[in-house]
Amino acid sequence: MVYGSQFTVHSKKSSENFTVNSKLQTPNQFTSEVVIGIECHVELDTKTKLFCSCSTKGNENPNTRVCPICLGHPGSKPVMNKKAFDYAIKLCMALCCKLDTELIFSRKSYFYPDMSKNYQITQFERPLGVGGHIKTTEKLIKLKRIHLEEDPASITYPGEMYSSNYSLLDYNRAGNPLVEIVTEPDIESPKQAREFLNKLILILSYLKIFDINTCIIKADANVSVKESGYSRVEIKNITGFKELERALVYEVTRQKALIKAGRKIERETRSWDSISKTTKKLRTKETEEDYGYIIDPDLCIVDVTKKLTEDLKKEIPELAHQKVERFIKTYKIDPVDAEVMVSEIELADLFEKVSKKANPALTAKWLRRELLRVLNYNNTTIKNIKFGEKELTELITLVDKKTITESTAQKIMEELIQKPFSPKEYVEKNKLAQLSNQAEIEDFCKQAIKENPKALQDYKNGEEKALQYLIGQVMKLTKGKASPEVVNRMIRGLVDGK
Ligand SMILES: [Zn+2]
Repeated sequence: MVYGSQFTVHSKKSSENFTVNSKLQTPNQFTSEVVIGIECHVELDTKTKLFCSCSTKGNENPNTRVCPICLGHPGSKPVMNKKAFDYAIKLCMALCCKLDTELIFSRKSYFYPDMSKNYQITQFERPLGVGGHIKTTEKLIKLKRIHLEEDPASITYPGEMYSSNYSLLDYNRAGNPLVEIVTEPDIESPKQAREFLNKLILILSYLKIFDINTCIIKADANVSVKESGYSRVEIKNITGFKELERALVYEVTRQKALIKAGRKIERETRSWDSISKTTKKLRTKETEEDYGYIIDPDLCIVDVTKKLTEDLKKEIPELAHQKVERFIKTYKIDPVDAEVMVSEIELADLFEKVSKKANPALTAKWLRRELLRVLNYNNTTIKNIKFGEKELTELITLVDKKTITESTAQKIMEELIQKPFSPKEYVEKNKLAQLSNQAEIEDFCKQAIKENPKALQDYKNGEEKALQYLIGQVMKLTKGKASPEVVNRMIRGLVDGK
């Protein structure tokens, strides 16, 4: 969708004095061992590209989803995608950024085959959002800016980048809408950087502006260490949060080792090689001035009106960190369980539905421990399973009322993933209710002791493990229908005479 008449459009060009928001913190402001700043490029989940109507997904054959605009033919005119604009504004609001009153695009000039018109349409002088933050466990990571820009084409180097005789260009990706999120140099460890990226992805997923399965998220990181007086090295093109942590750990170690060896840290740009798990020098760092930014005369300045932002604000759902607080308050569940429950929108929804009818603390425990275990084992997700609220409510209620043992419930969960059924009816039909007749359980305990004289002797000799073995034997004999606590107590009583 391209922008329509609902916008107030100016034809005025850059006549104002723009403030540049890219000032760096001076080294003497830092105190931590490691200083990291991150620039994330997030692909927005729109149907069409940022400035043309080419599809962002579909035919993967190279250079098939292209037109004169995204190929940068002279005379072609870009028109902004309204959806991408809305998404970027929602993200700015969700991250508590201060929104600019106008959207202005710039041209970042550079010569490289991934951008055939020799400039990238981006925002420089006035980003759409400034400030804002993302909360991690240890600290609030401050944001510097958020802006919209187009993705360049992808370049592949057959064989290896440094030894390849030629490169291949694919413009299918060129012009895809990206938001760039730049943090202050506020991150103090690779682990914190990973959590930051994780939290960002969660916010993007809740806003439904990013699809983790199809959209790309990439990070560049600035890294410096105290020992060098915080001399910054930039690492380019890291994909995924695990890779980000790995790349940062490698770079921090490399810098510290160089200083220890009496060498200096050069200000440079390095690339992360996810195969060799190392960073390699790309070039000495260019400055923003080298890009010769100008305001793009082909694109209108768009007013970010109060009405527009108020309408979009209404569409922002409850976000993960807000859900955590509400879950703890309303359902009185453990804070760690609450964090896990909101880690996926589908899991949070399922928890809330089941908790309205079953014990919330038990629901959180069972979804976290058992449902996620079974999903993991079967390599699937909540979206793809056929059972849900009804079956889980029944199952958790059966556990809560102690109608079935935990071990029976675990087995039912494993069966449910194969084919949905009513756990209540299943328990009745297969006579899986927990044994309540004490005499009956005692008989099974006696049988286990009789059949395992060696375990009995070991237990008498003080081996606690042997008791666990005997309990296991009773569970086997009862097909998991006896409560392990009752069996434990009973065997101790029979053997120790207590
Ligand atoms: Zn196009």
